[in-house]
Amino acid sequence: MSTSEDKKITILGAGLVGSLLSIYLSRRGYEVTMYERRPDMRKENISAGKSINLALSDRGWLGLQGVGIEAAIRKVAIPMNGRMMHSVKGDLTYQQYGEEGQSIYATSRGLLNCVMMDEAEKKGVKIVFNHRCTRVDMENAIASFESPEGAKDVKSRLIFSADGAFSAGRLALQLGADRFDYSQNYLKHGYKELLIPAGPSDSFKMEKHALHIWTRGGYMLIALPNMDGSFTCTLFFPFEGEESFASIKTEEDCNAFFKKNFPDALELMPDLAKQFFSNPTGALVTVKCFPWTYKDKLCLIGDAAHAIVPFYGQGMNCGFEDCTVLESLLEKYNEDWSKVLPAYQAARKPNSDAIADLAIMNFVEMRDLVGSKEFLLRKKIEARIHEKHPEKWLPLYSQVTFSAIPYSEALANGLRQDGIMKKVMALPGIEAKWDSAEVEKMILDQLV
Ligand SMILES: Cc1cc2nc3c(=O)[nH]c(=O)nc-3n(C[C@H](O)[C@H](O)[C@H](O)COP(=O)(O)OP(=O)(O)OC[C@H]3O[C@@H](n4cnc5c(N)ncnc54)[C@H](O)[C@@H]3O)c2cc1C
Repeated sequence: MSTSEDKKITILGAGLVGSLLSIYLSRRGYEVTMYERRPDMRKENISAGKSINLALSDRGWLGLQGVGIEAAIRKVAIPMNGRMMHSVKGDLTYQQYGEEGQSIYATSRGLLNCVMMDEAEKKGVKIVFNHRCTRVDMENAIASFESPEGAKDVKSRLIFSADGAFSAGRLALQLGADRFDYSQNYLKHGYKELLIPAGPSDSFKMEKHALHIWTRGGYMLIALPNMDGSFTCTLFFPFEGEESFASIKTEEDCNAFFKKNFPDALELMPDLAKQFFSNPTGALVTVKCFPWTYKDKLCLIGDAAHAIVPFYGQGMNCGFEDCTVLESLLEKYNEDWSKVLPAYQAARKPNSDAIADLAIMNFVEMRDLVGSKEFLLRKKIEARIHEKHPEKWLPLYSQVTFSAIPYSEALANGLRQDGIMKKVMALPGIEAKWDSAEVEKMILDQLV
C-alpha cells in the first residue's frame, strides 16, 4: 500500500462528532473525506424543528480546545449557572449547578456544526454532501453511497462511522462481526421542541443564565436560552396514556394541558398550539453495542457507538471525549491503528455504558424529584459537605459535568454517595439538623 493510501480516511456523517474527529485526524496529516447524507446546512436550513440547542460542558470544551476552536464557540454560547425550577403556581426556585464560576453552556447545534465544518474544511477535510452510506464492506474498508449522481463505492485505509444512532457502520458490524452484542431501548417518553420567542429588542423573557425546568411527575418541560433572546423548550412526555402526546388531539386540549401544568410557560408562547401540532415528536433511544471496531478497518464513534437519552446533557460531550481519547492514543501508539483501535474501544466502552445508565437515572431524578423539598434539602447537605471537604465529596452532577473523571468512576462514586445520603435523609428531624456536626460526622465516617 502506498503512503498516500495509508493516510486515506473516510468518515461517515458530518455531524458534531464526525466534524470534530475530522479536524483531529487532518491535523495529523490524514487525508480525510466526510460523507454526509444531508445537504450542506450552511447553505440550506434543515433544522426541521429538532434539537435546536444543546448544553456543552467540560468534556465537550476539552474536545474543542484540543483543535483550537474553543474560543470561536464561546462567542456563541450562553453560560447557564444553575437550574431554575418553576412550580405550577409559577414560584421559582434557583439551584446553582456547581461552584461559583462553573456553568454549562447553551449552544446552537446548527451553529456549532457549521463552525466545525468550516474549521474542518480550513484544515483540508473534504466534505461530500447528499451522500448516504448504504453499506460498509468492513473487510476491505469500502463504503457504498447513494447520491443524486448515482451509486458509488469508496475505498480507504480506515472508515470511521460517525453517522449517529442509526448507523450504517454499526449495521455492518451487526451483520458481520463475531459475537456482536447489541441492545436498543426506547423510552416510553418522546420529546417535542417548542419556542418561547424573544421579548422586545431581543430581550429574554425569563432568566437568561439558567436552564429552566418544570417537573411534573410523569413528564417535564425544560428551556435553554438562545443568542437571539428566545428559549428553546423541550417537552418530555409519554407517547401513550391518559396524559400523553396521543391524548392531546386538539388545540383546546393542548392549551388546557399547558394551562393546568405550565401556566407561566404558556403565557410566553402565544402560538403554542400551532407549534405543538406542526413540530415533530422525537423518540429517545439508548443503544449499547460491542465491539466498536473491525480489525483496523472500521471504527464507531459518537452516537453510532453509544446513543444515550439526553437527561444528563452528555451525548455530544461524550462523543467529543471519544475524540480526545482517540487523539491521546494516536499519540501514545505512534498512530499504529492496530494498537490504537483496541485501546480506544476498551477505554470508552465502560464509560459510555456508565453515562447511558446515568442519563436514565437522571431522567427519573429530573422528572420526579427535582423541586421536591426532600431533593432540595439533600442537595443542600451535599453542597455543604463539598464546601467543607472538597477533597472527599464531589457531587455526582459535578463529576459528570465539571470534570473529566471517567464516567464509570463517577457512576460508582455516585452510587456510593446515594447509599450514604439515603441513610442521612432517613435520620429523624433531618430538616432541623441538616447542617449539624452529627450529620457531617455520619457522612465522613461512611467515606473512610
Ligand atoms: C432532545 C435531545 C437533546 C440533547 N441534548 C444534548 C445536550 O444538551 N448535550 C449533549 O451533549 N448532547 C445532547 N444530545 C445528544 C446529542 O445530540 C448527540 O449525542 C450528538 O448529536 C451525537 O453526535 P454524532 O455526530 O455522533 O451524531 P449525529 O449528531 O446524529 O450526527 C450524525 C450525522 O451523520 C449523518 N448520517 C446519518 N446516517 C448517515 C448515512 N447513512 N450516511 C451518511 N451520513 C449519515 C446525519 O445526517 C448526521 O449529520 C441531545 C439529544 C437529543 C435528542
